[in-house]
Amino acid sequence: MKDPFDRLAAVWDELVTTARRTVTDGLVVGTSGNVSVRVRDLVLVTPSGVRYDRLGPSDTTGVDLDGNQIIGRLRPTSELPLHLAVYRSTSATAVVHTHAPHATAVSTLVPELPPVHYMTAALGGPVRVAPYALYGSDELAANMLGALRDRTACLLQNHGTLAYGDSLDQALDRTAQLEWMCRVWLTAASVPGHSPSLLSPGQLDAAATRLRGYGQTGDGLV
Ligand SMILES: [Zn+2]
Repeated sequence: MKDPFDRLAAVWDELVTTARRTVTDGLVVGTSGNVSVRVRDLVLVTPSGVRYDRLGPSDTTGVDLDGNQIIGRLRPTSELPLHLAVYRSTSATAVVHTHAPHATAVSTLVPELPPVHYMTAALGGPVRVAPYALYGSDELAANMLGALRDRTACLLQNHGTLAYGDSLDQALDRTAQLEWMCRVWLTAASVPGHSPSLLSPGQLDAAATRLRGYGQTGDGLV
C-alpha cells in the first residue's frame, strides 16, 4: 500500500497542475481563482494570494471540513466557504472556482445561461446564476448551493464560475465547457436583429441520455 504522505503529495501535485491549467487555459488571471480536492475528511486547497507557478510541495495547504487548518502555514483561499459548502452538500471530490471572462460577463446579464448547446445537459441542465453576495461570505456559499441544485456547475453573479466533479480533471473540464458555452451565447446574442435559438427541455433530456452513454457505446460527443 502506498504511503499516505506520498499519496497526499501526489494529490497536491495534481492540484497545483490543475491550478496552473486554469491560468494557461485563460480561465484565471493571476490568482483570481482557486482549486480544491477532497481526500477523505481533508480538503487540500490553493492558498490565498500565491501565484500558481510558485507553488511547490512545501506549500501544501489543507483544512478539515469545518475549515480548520490541518496542513501548512499559508492561509487558505478566501473563497474556502464555497469549497467547503460543496463538499458538505455533495459527493464531489474536486472543486474549481474561476473568474473566467465570458462566464462572468453572462453572470451580469441573465439569471440563467440560456441553453444554446446540448453540453448544457452535461452540467445537469440550464446553468443558474447565484445572486450576488460578498466574496468569501457564507451568504455567497448559501446562494451558490441554491444555484447548484441538480447541477454540477453554476455562475456567481458579477463574480465568476464554480464547478465540481469526481476528479480535478472533471471539475476543470466542466469549468471550461461552461466558459465556452457562455462565449457561444454571448457571440450569438450579440448579432444585431437576431436572437439565438434555444434547446427545449425534451432536447436537453435526449442529450443527457446520450451523454450518459458516452465512452461506453462509442456514441456521444460529435
Ligand atoms: Zn472568486
